[in-house]
Amino acid sequence: MNGFERELEERLVRYARVDTQSDERSPSSPSTAIQLDLARMLVAELTEIGAAEVQLTEYGVVLATVPATREGAPVIGFLAHVDTAPQFHAVGVKPVVHRGYNGGPIAFADAPGLTLSPESSSHLAEKIGHDIITASGTTLLGADDKAGVAVIMTLARHLLTNPDLPHGAIRIAFTPDEEIGRGVDKRLPKDLGADFAYTLDGGAVGEIEYESFSADGASVKITGVSVHPGLAKGKMVNALHLAAKIVTALPQATMTPEVTDGREGFLHLYEQRGSAAEVELNFILRDFERDGLAAKGELLRAVCAAVQAGEPRATISCEIRPQYRNMRYWLENDMAPVELARAACRAEGIEPVSVPIRGGTDGSRLTEMGVPTPNIFTGMQEIHGPLEWISVQDMATATRVCLRLTELAATPG
Ligand SMILES: [Zn+2]
Repeated sequence: MNGFERELEERLVRYARVDTQSDERSPSSPSTAIQLDLARMLVAELTEIGAAEVQLTEYGVVLATVPATREGAPVIGFLAHVDTAPQFHAVGVKPVVHRGYNGGPIAFADAPGLTLSPESSSHLAEKIGHDIITASGTTLLGADDKAGVAVIMTLARHLLTNPDLPHGAIRIAFTPDEEIGRGVDKRLPKDLGADFAYTLDGGAVGEIEYESFSADGASVKITGVSVHPGLAKGKMVNALHLAAKIVTALPQATMTPEVTDGREGFLHLYEQRGSAAEVELNFILRDFERDGLAAKGELLRAVCAAVQAGEPRATISCEIRPQYRNMRYWLENDMAPVELARAACRAEGIEPVSVPIRGGTDGSRLTEMGVPTPNIFTGMQEIHGPLEWISVQDMATATRVCLRLTELAATPG
């Protein structure tokens, strides 16, 4: 036992209390200025523990270096994101530590009736005796991804206070706006300057992930014909009716998030805005393969075209834009970073598992931009909701795996 637990707990609790929710609707970068509160805190803490080249970039990323203690080792990057998910309440998070978990249901002070239990969260049954951190019932916790931040900060502090440990240069990056897909500025790969990197943004202990979704976004705009309803006969074209036709023509029983898992992709309508005159439908398209993703785009276009053909007086447009691509396309050409993380897991007595991520990470974009960046577990569970929890001991395991990884990379053979 090397005392990571107390430090990790203290860091996560402290970081989780800082509001950092991102906002997809905001055009600014970072999308919310509150994210900089945590970024500035991390700059101060990195400086205090003696990290080098500590910097807050103009695009809102905290960068720092743990200088090498061995020559010739690769430069490894570690990344985590400071923002929390926009999908659930994330203001005024009150972290609660449930010490020495007894295996029963966990109650929430601010939400009577809400319980977290091994029945509803399968990994919890494995954590008897662990210290479990949750929020208080009305917000998410934000272990996604402040657990990653806490792990990287603890790793950095440990390496900086133990200069006899062998490792190459380590580059640290704390990004904003990962949850809204804007965490990787085009300047980041060069500024990071790592040979390869890892995001600390994964779930269960042992997960080393190198496959993410490939992702597109789509906007369908429908312009009807607006006429006074009393004088509308033969003239009005109601955009809301056309939107409903498009939505119902799409395969809801086979291709939506709520009916797919594993390697299946989906087409997800996440927002509908507008009026009889004009409607906008916003979708995300997800698939593990380029072909499957393209097919989903074609399906959406075909449905729009069919509805348009049935009502030539309306104008229906369908714009599809790329978001990120499955990082496997690049990582499978050189699995060394993945194998290194797996070796570090095994050295810590953990059997690594690789499951495809039904989402993306900053690593998806970074990998596409030339910095191979698989994802390492932190222990976080039930993210983006009030039941979010993490085991302090799992975070300590993640920290030990990262520590071992830096050592293995500096001592080949
Ligand atoms: Zn995350």
